[in-house]
Amino acid sequence: MEYEKMLDRLYMQVTTKGKNEGRMEIPKPESIIEGNKTIIKNFSQFVKTIERDEKQIIKYITKETASSGVVNSGRLILNGKFSQFQIERLFDNYVKNFVLCPECKRPDTKILDRQGVKIMKCEACGAISAIKG
Ligand SMILES: [Zn+2]
Repeated sequence: MEYEKMLDRLYMQVTTKGKNEGRMEIPKPESIIEGNKTIIKNFSQFVKTIERDEKQIIKYITKETASSGVVNSGRLILNGKFSQFQIERLFDNYVKNFVLCPECKRPDTKILDRQGVKIMKCEACGAISAIKG
């Protein structure tokens, strides 16, 4: 009987948590190539959704692609030609490294600064983790 109660309680906790699921839907980057440039059309939407520093994301993307980039009316314009597949993989990696909680794999995280050390705190499960890079 006690065991069943415990299971009930566990189940309730799980379902309560589940209510928030899907709160944040991370958009897939939409990119097009124009001449020698690659344009990520929904860059600002991506930045807004994951609530990360735009500069930091650009730094990551340009480093990984060994190119440079500027933001113009919500779009990120990269110097160089990159396929939609490459761009998607880059953004996926960024999300995996800097947005998703390593414990529960949900994107409800915030970056905090603890005496100069950046850490990631998950608002869904409370896990605190170090940030790579
Ligand atoms: Zn978590």
